[in-house]
Formats: sequence, C-alpha cells, structure tokens
Amino acid sequence: MFFRLFNLYRHYRFLLRTQWATEKTLRQIQLRGLKQIVRHAYQQVPYYRRLFDEAGFHPDQLQSLDDLRRIPISDKAAMAPYSRKDLVSANTPARELLPLSTAGSTGHPLNFCISRDAKFLRVVTEWRALSAHGVRWTDKVLAFRNTRHVYRDQFWFNRLGLMRRVFVHFGEPIERKLEIIARERPTLLQGYPSVLLDIMNHLPEQKLRRLGLRYLVSCGEVLDSHARRLLEESFQIPLINHYGAMEFGYLAWQCPEFDALHLNEEMFVFEILRNGRPVADGEEGEIVITSLHQFAMPFIRYRLGDRVRVLGHHCPCGRGLNTIDVLMGRTTDRIIRRDGSEANPHLFHLLYHEVSGLFQYQIIQRSPDRFRVRFVPLPGRETDSLKRRFQEKIDQIMGYPVAIEFEKLDQFTPGETGKLKLVQSEIGQPITAIAPSIRDQVFLDTITLGEKAESAGSKG
Ligand SMILES: [Zn+2]
Repeated sequence: MFFRLFNLYRHYRFLLRTQWATEKTLRQIQLRGLKQIVRHAYQQVPYYRRLFDEAGFHPDQLQSLDDLRRIPISDKAAMAPYSRKDLVSANTPARELLPLSTAGSTGHPLNFCISRDAKFLRVVTEWRALSAHGVRWTDKVLAFRNTRHVYRDQFWFNRLGLMRRVFVHFGEPIERKLEIIARERPTLLQGYPSVLLDIMNHLPEQKLRRLGLRYLVSCGEVLDSHARRLLEESFQIPLINHYGAMEFGYLAWQCPEFDALHLNEEMFVFEILRNGRPVADGEEGEIVITSLHQFAMPFIRYRLGDRVRVLGHHCPCGRGLNTIDVLMGRTTDRIIRRDGSEANPHLFHLLYHEVSGLFQYQIIQRSPDRFRVRFVPLPGRETDSLKRRFQEKIDQIMGYPVAIEFEKLDQFTPGETGKLKLVQSEIGQPITAIAPSIRDQVFLDTITLGEKAESAGSKG
C-alpha cells in the first residue's frame, strides 16, 4: 500500500515537472513508453499478437513515433467481439483487474479492464489538472454522474479531509440536487454542462454566489463558449473543462490561461488523423490514442470517434503539452415531457446498463407520451422481459406512463451504427453536441459491481 502511494506521489511529481518539458523531451518520453507497451502487448496479449502478425509488424520495427502508423487502428467495434482472455495481458494477476464498461451509446459497448494502479493514476492525472487551476487538496468535490453501479473511490486520506468527493446521480430531481449541495457544502461542483446550467437556472444569482463554491468542472459534453460564459458569469467563479473517455480516464484538461485543452502527452500518444495522415496545427481530424501506462489491457492506436482540432505546442502559458479543441461528435435531441420540461437525455444513454440482455438500441420520441424503441438483443435472450424493463425505465425517466412501440432487429443496417443517433426526438431540438467518447466518461468511476452502492444522494 505504501509502496503504491509512494509511486503515485512520484508520478504526480513527474507530471508536475513534465508539463513544462519541451516538445522534444515529451517525444522522447513517448517513444520510450511506446516501445515498452508495444513489446508488452505483442508478448502478452493475443489480440495484439494476431493484429501485429497479420499486418507484418514486429515491435523491433518501432524506431520512431511515426513507425506507430504501421500498426492497424482498433476501435470498440473491432475489440468488442473478443473475450477477456484475448484482450487482457496474460501476466496480470486477476486480483489486480477492475472490470469497466463503456456506454452503449455508439452501438458497440466494450467491456474492458484497467489495473488498480491505472485507476490511481487517473486520480493523479486529474489532480495535476485541478492543481494547475489552484484547486487545493482540501477542496471538496461534489460530482454529478452515473452512480447507479458505482464503486465509489473512498480512500483513507478522504477522512483526513483531503480530496473529499461526494457522488450524486445526475438524474436526481433538481430539488434534491440543491438540497444535497446545501447540505454537503462542496467547494467544487462537477458535472455535465447541462446539469450545471440546470442548477444555475433554478437559483437566483445572489444565492448561487453564496453557495461557497470556488470552481465548476465541466465534463461529459462539449462545452460551447456560450454555456461557459453563462455559467462563469452567473456563478462568478472559474470553470475548468475536461476531456476524457471511459477507456482512458482524463485525456486533456483546460489550460489555466488560455481557452484550449492540454493533452496528457506523458501518459498517451495522440494522433490526430485525416485519411490516415496526421493533420497540421490548426486543422481538424479524428483522435486516435495509444495509452502508455495501461499494461493490464493495452489500447494501441484506438479510435474514439471524436473530432478535435490541433492547436499546437506553443501555448501562452509556457507548458510544452500540445493543445486541442474538442469539436462536435454527434448530437442528441431534447426529450420533452408533457408539461414542457426536459428529461435529461443521458438517462436514455444509460439504459444499456439498466436493461439486461441488450446489445444495441435506439430511442425515438414521437410525442410527449409516445416512443419507439428499436433494439437488438444479445443472442439467445428472450425479449419480453427486456421490453418490460424498457417500459419501466422510460416511464420512470418521464415521470408518467408512456406508450412504446417496439421494433426488434437482428442488427442495425451496416453503416447505420456509425451514424446512429441514440436518442432522437421528433418534437425536441438537438442539444449540445456530445462527443461519443466524452459521453462515456459518465462511467469514469463506475465499476460494475452490481447494485452494491446506492447513490450518495439517496443514502441521505
Ligand atoms: Zn497552456
């Protein structure tokens, strides 16, 4: 335990130092890490051994970062059919593995693992970003996220008043959220911009400023400049923006001095590609990621499905870490209730975890009380219980019984899944664009251990 803590502390110090390193030094760190993880994956992970062999690639050929492009790109769809035995490194003891899952939002949920060490590294990476903004170890975080199946990270140092966190399900009614804020008195509020905006809309500005908050942290949705301005002006505190993905944890964080996100380049190799070629600064492309520290289940050249713009290494703050802008992924529509209020569309994204036996689905709202659910069950699952569960959950989200027309499919037509809008409404307008991988971040601390823990909120 102490060895682990010591290592974490060392890593934290390392990250504090390397954020100021030159591009050249960062590239050296990356190449060293890359050689290690690629060799490890080839020796220990059947999926990569096969992938490399089929592409005629051997780890010895990796002499520069450019050589990485000899390895084929993987994504959720490519990895999902493989079993844990194929994807997880043979030399990782089972007790070190934490099972996780991405949302079903892109149509291909992926069950994967990270090691305990990797989980701790996520916390350290997050704290580098927060501390750059002046967040203190004694600040108390209240995070609105999916807490349904959550294994909440409580550590012994939380009891000493350090890095305290309270998790509340983002789908709690607004009155309940306000009640919990008043009771817990956090200094930092974290959640989707839509959740933060909702809180803003329900309290007069004077009250907002008396909450004792020092920061807002936005994640899970693309934050547009309009929403940012609104939130900062109403709360009168700074807003810190994060970009991450379930598979990787925190990938990029907002520069304290400039409106851009710094990539965690010591932890990952980022490629921003268009037609397979890296784009120049100022251009946009799709982000492909290689994790340099996830040895338990490596992710090498993994496509998230998000579009970003590269801004370059010369940030006015002096940090050497490259900067990006996250652009739109796909959109989701507003779901409108009978009384005109909106149901949070993320609740519909979570149905994948609530309805068992489900492979893929799509929800279409026809009118305030009529829905159409298109779904593909897992092989061999009977569909009656699945439909009942859909009905139950959607009634619950809407707050009244709705009529649902079900359409069972063998599969969504090929090509459709890539562009599939998971939550669609014929009466609601599209809202903030949500990058598919960011959306998955709602599960960041969610480790599926069943219904073990209730949300912090409902515990009272
Ligand atoms: Zn900067």
